[in-house]
Amino acid sequence: MNDSSDFAKLSAIVASSGDAIISTDFNGFIQSWNNGAAYIFGFSSDEVLGKNINTIIPKELIEEEKSFVEELKGSGEAKNYETIRKRKDSTKFPVAITMSPIRDAETNVTGVSVIARDITKLKISQRNNSLLASIIKSSDDAIISKNLDGIITSWNPGAKKIYGFSAQEAIGKNISLIIPASRLEEEKQIISKVIKGKKVDHLETIRKTKDGNEINISLTVSPVKDASGRIIGASKVARDITERVEIEKQKQLFIDKLQQLNDFKDDFMMMASHELKTPITVMRACLQVLHDFVSEGAVDIRFVDKSLANLDKLSNLVVELLDVSKIQNGKLELSVSTFNLFVLLEEVASEMQQINQEHKIILRGQGELLEIKADRDKIKRVLINMITNAVKYSPGENKVVVETVVKQSGVIVKVKDNGIGIPKEDIDKVFNRFFRAGGRASTFPGVGIGLYISSEIIRYHGGKMWVENNDDKGSIFYIELPQKSSNVLSEAV
Ligand code: ADP
Repeated sequence: MNDSSDFAKLSAIVASSGDAIISTDFNGFIQSWNNGAAYIFGFSSDEVLGKNINTIIPKELIEEEKSFVEELKGSGEAKNYETIRKRKDSTKFPVAITMSPIRDAETNVTGVSVIARDITKLKISQRNNSLLASIIKSSDDAIISKNLDGIITSWNPGAKKIYGFSAQEAIGKNISLIIPASRLEEEKQIISKVIKGKKVDHLETIRKTKDGNEINISLTVSPVKDASGRIIGASKVARDITERVEIEKQKQLFIDKLQQLNDFKDDFMMMASHELKTPITVMRACLQVLHDFVSEGAVDIRFVDKSLANLDKLSNLVVELLDVSKIQNGKLELSVSTFNLFVLLEEVASEMQQINQEHKIILRGQGELLEIKADRDKIKRVLINMITNAVKYSPGENKVVVETVVKQSGVIVKVKDNGIGIPKEDIDKVFNRFFRAGGRASTFPGVGIGLYISSEIIRYHGGKMWVENNDDKGSIFYIELPQKSSNVLSEAV
């Protein structure tokens, strides 16, 4: 190759370069100006050849440029630096410059060659990258990337906060590090979407943390492409929504409870109106008869008794309804005293016997050991409710057995009947408010609040109430109250 062909090649390279290639003498006068320079600075070579290089240098950087040239003269070595230059339209832009000495045949430095590259785009993308990096760094969301083999390639501080693994621990590991075994199939489906270039948006799922806890997250997965547009991995943005899910769960529970209460209210209104209607109708009829008798001067005592009995029913119902609302509001009050439960049972059994001729109420137990500390009136109501139910739900039978048992843990009263019993599926529900068992039981009058109130009264005393089906036939209701020594309750003054 001869010199002239070398020169021709070099000239072609200079002419076709996208970079500005400029040469100047030591006084800064432009000697050559390629197409790249014309493109970048906006001046044609005709406009700048012979002009000073200061034409493209912002005023405030002229001194800097001079010092670079002096340095070059001194060292004779090429120098790279980034600075600012000015276009024909006076706009300033960042450039990367390589400044080299030009030597003559005797190697004397005779001028300066400058290769300048417009780095505006590079700077913008650097700025964008650092902005993105700082967003990713400061995000509370976990931002993770992984390749198509599922290997984690980046892990931000948000990911550490949510999953507990540090970047060091996570990068290079498979993404299954944070996926519960039961969700691995879901991950495969996500990847198959990503490979097709599709995005997975706000998928609510479960992930696992370093300490093995499962957390609820909202996940967005997007394909990551290389410069040629080929999908090379996926980026995952995950937000911890455990708290939100918990709040939603609580909200749902609350709504369900409200709904249940509303249903209770409707059922209750229906039952109460029915139950209140019957005694009122009977009383009205009796009073009408009384009225007629009075006007005729003769009164039959049976009508008076019937009216009084129905009035009792009505006032009991009203007391029970009031109790339900007191229990609901936590306002049921106990008036506690020390008394013998067996004596109370004898009293209740005798009163109940007087109004129930069909059933014999049999009382068994050891009276002397049954001193308890409780609200006597309320316990009396519980016992009446148990015996009334035993009689009511055993039509055609002839006995109800009431038995007391003294145990280490407390005093137990059992009320056993041979009646209709309680269907298995309802046995856990009979103490619920307004619950009435299905089947035969539903043909008996009732509102379904007696057992609820009774069990709450016993609970207020620190005891418990439960039911079992009688092996022979019928049911056995139990209450257990703490012994007198229990300090659950303090005596009323
Ligand atoms: P009510 O008798 O007014 O319906 P309770 O709260 O006293 O209300 O009883 C709730 C339900 O429990 C009753 O409707 C009945 O289905 C069932 N039950 C209560 N006691 C007995 C019993 N001794 N035998 C069978 N079922 C009973």
